[in-house]
Amino acid sequence: MTSLTVVVPAYNESDGLREFQRRIAAVFDGLDLDCRVLYVDDGSRDDTYAVMESLRAADPRVSTLRLSRNFGKELALTAGLDHADADAVVVIDADLQDPPELIGQFVQKWREGFDVVYGTRASRAGETWIKKWTSTAFYRVMERMTDLPIPRDTGDFRLMSRRAIDALKLLRERQRFMKGLFTWVGFPQTSIVYDRDPRFAGDSKWNYWRLWNFALEGITSFSSIPLRLATYVGIFSAVIAFVFAIWVFAKALLFGDPVRGYPSLMVVVLFLGGLQLMALGMIGEYLGRTYVEAKQRPLYLIDRFHPAQTVRVD
Ligand code: UDP
Ligand code: MG
Repeated sequence: MTSLTVVVPAYNESDGLREFQRRIAAVFDGLDLDCRVLYVDDGSRDDTYAVMESLRAADPRVSTLRLSRNFGKELALTAGLDHADADAVVVIDADLQDPPELIGQFVQKWREGFDVVYGTRASRAGETWIKKWTSTAFYRVMERMTDLPIPRDTGDFRLMSRRAIDALKLLRERQRFMKGLFTWVGFPQTSIVYDRDPRFAGDSKWNYWRLWNFALEGITSFSSIPLRLATYVGIFSAVIAFVFAIWVFAKALLFGDPVRGYPSLMVVVLFLGGLQLMALGMIGEYLGRTYVEAKQRPLYLIDRFHPAQTVRVD
């Protein structure tokens, strides 16, 4: 029988997990697939793991995986994908913002031959206009800066076929911008439009500082245009400086040179100093990335892994 595993990264989600399990179990009952759910506890500080274990005791289709500490969603997701061996894997958040009921439609598209089926949000209930606006701006910038057509308004909620996951597993970079990696893999992809619900319980782990860093992550992981930008800004200011120098010389030769010009000198020095620091910062951003990769650390560490109890019947 074809199998399906749903990977659910969760960090401090104990309040919502039981409801999540209730809804996902109902979805499973309606599918003629060998269904599993794999909860990944990303080093939660509340009793998320205890709740997961009680769910596993109650339902043989539940597997649990616990990381040694909080590694962040992207790595929790990677750990989950590495441990899911089904023919198709669905990735979904634990907070019920993405309706599990959509999985049926995902499966249908997968059976039609698509390797990746992702959910595209038509609306985002319970989110502020600032968040929506910044998110649109982010996708615009990404589209300009990279060659990757990263689908807009698309989170990590998606189904992937075995070969798409195997391809994804080959990308072992440490700083993982999953949306970019999913797109990089390619294969026939399609989307299903849905309405995103507000969180069932608990709070979002994202604040603007984290989102900003996430955006930088995305850009620096998939584009070296900022580096080239530094070069162009450098060339541009050098040309301006050259023209300005000719003018200064000509003026001094024609009219003599009474000592003046402290303000303009100051402005030029500070401006160029600022540009240089900015360019250094950009280089540093990429250098830091190379440094992290060079250390070759494992992506995550496992504390415990409990695969689902039932034996698979093929
Ligand atoms: N999450 C995680 N590790 C983290 C932060 C979040 O595994 O360090 C999980 C979280 O439990 C949820 C999903 O990632 O299932 C999405 O997180 P959240 O709802 O905070 O993000 P948002 O929906 O606001 O983008
Ligand atoms: Mg959420």
